[in-house]
Amino acid sequence: MDILVLPGDDIGPEITAVTLKVLKTADDLFGLGLEFEQKDVGVTAHRAEGSTVPEHVLQSALQADGIILGPAGMTAYPEGSAGWINVPGTIRKKLDLFANIRPARSRPGVPRAKEGLDLTIVRENTEGFYSDRNMFRGIGEFMPTEDLALSVRKITRQASHRIAAVAFETARKRNSAVTVVGKRHVLQISDGLFMDEVNAVARDYPEVKLVEKDIDAVAAELYSSPENFGVILITNMFGDILSNLAVAMSGSLGLAASLNAGETRAAANAGHGSAPDIAGKGIANPLGLVLSTVLLLEWLGIRHEKQNFVDAAVAISKAVDFVLADPGSRTGDLGGRAGTADVGAALVKALGNAG
Ligand code: ATP
Repeated sequence: MDILVLPGDDIGPEITAVTLKVLKTADDLFGLGLEFEQKDVGVTAHRAEGSTVPEHVLQSALQADGIILGPAGMTAYPEGSAGWINVPGTIRKKLDLFANIRPARSRPGVPRAKEGLDLTIVRENTEGFYSDRNMFRGIGEFMPTEDLALSVRKITRQASHRIAAVAFETARKRNSAVTVVGKRHVLQISDGLFMDEVNAVARDYPEVKLVEKDIDAVAAELYSSPENFGVILITNMFGDILSNLAVAMSGSLGLAASLNAGETRAAANAGHGSAPDIAGKGIANPLGLVLSTVLLLEWLGIRHEKQNFVDAAVAISKAVDFVLADPGSRTGDLGGRAGTADVGAALVKALGNAG
């Protein structure tokens, strides 16, 4: 199985190094047969090749079975200058990775984790308010006059259909309900179309319960009763906001896992940014990207019917639980003093012991 590794900017190379160490250990233990190819994107690629996403990287991405993509330091890129292209956005578009899968779970022993939280957000990744936006060019926004700004929200039946199918498949696997979230009485036409299509897909999954809720109600209920949620199906911008709330409730942004999946390919992306404030210090929490890679292994295992990939995913996730339970292996964002590499070493040891 070919894995393209793109470490990205700032803390990206630090957390990617740990992720690869863990993955190579799992490869040895479970006989995954992984082949890695590593390439630069972001600031390093721009310095060497004049583009944050060189064309040969996109070609490699199209050929890989899976991608590991560290965070890109978008906020540091000078707007509009040549070659500064949104790294994750370009890869998502090129590979049509339409589903953003964002789990959030309170793992045992994690300080500030909200009890009862164990959900997966399935977020539509290609339209909504972001649909026609290239980096730094908000085509989806415009000003017809000097005093009027408009934002356009795009919802299509086709994109709603395919994201709904991902949510119902996820719920069927987890044996949980789907809560579809929007604001239908305000966004009557766009959320109306989204909800109608979700209800149509629901007919193919009679065993999965479907509940519709408003985003504002969900923001409150998620905090007060997180156990009420299993799979949340949501449009792009609402999903962006709710994912960060859910991940903060799991204890830290440093634990944020994220998979961007299409029909035939998927990319593991940390669910947090490139954290320039702590870059180079060796203190970043690598677990977000490690857990994203767990999602990628699971996805590859299901898609290619390879049980050893699913087993490896379960083993790494258990090793993460084991490591987090020890306060001495927690990074600063979780109230600990461990460094990025210490967490990696503890994970490799836990995996080896379990195997
Ligand atoms: P972006 O706009 O790219 O999403 P951001 O500026 O909103 O990024 P992050 O880069 O995610 O935010 O950082 C937000 C805060 O969380 C920072 O203080 C950062 O240091 C912290 N943080 C993010 N990721 C990690 C991590 N893996 N380990 C520890 N702290 C982290």
